[in-house]
Amino acid sequence: MICEYCGSVIGENDKFCSHCGAGVVKKPEPKFDREPEYTREPVYESFGQAPEKESDRPGYTKALVSMIVGILSIVLIFVLTPIAGVILGVVGLVLNNMARGDGYTGSILKAGKICSIVGLVLSVLFIILIAVLIGASFILIPELLG
Ligand SMILES: [Zn+2]
Repeated sequence: MICEYCGSVIGENDKFCSHCGAGVVKKPEPKFDREPEYTREPVYESFGQAPEKESDRPGYTKALVSMIVGILSIVLIFVLTPIAGVILGVVGLVLNNMARGDGYTGSILKAGKICSIVGLVLSVLFIILIAVLIGASFILIPELLG
């Protein structure tokens, strides 16, 4: 610690300067006053803004719909409507791009993209599988029937 009056180096816990005898004003105090203010303000702001910000962010709704549509595109495969899955997967990806174009960056955006791609790919694969099975049955059935 340095004495404010004479500039001499003094002990950290000294109440008086050993060189000039001046009362020591501890400098850490203003630092302690500032630090809580710094930590309080951003925390307070983020608490106040975070709930509004997420849904008010541009592209949020599109990102959310993208995720829902992406999930539906996956679910629809399992109820044997892969064409709807393809359509929803494409819609999900389009909405996802629009949301990103609006400047939205969040976990929902990523989830929407992943779900839409997974739904789209699985739907296409499912359609190919059905097409192959139908094609195979056309070849196999006449053969089996002789
Ligand atoms: Zn001094």
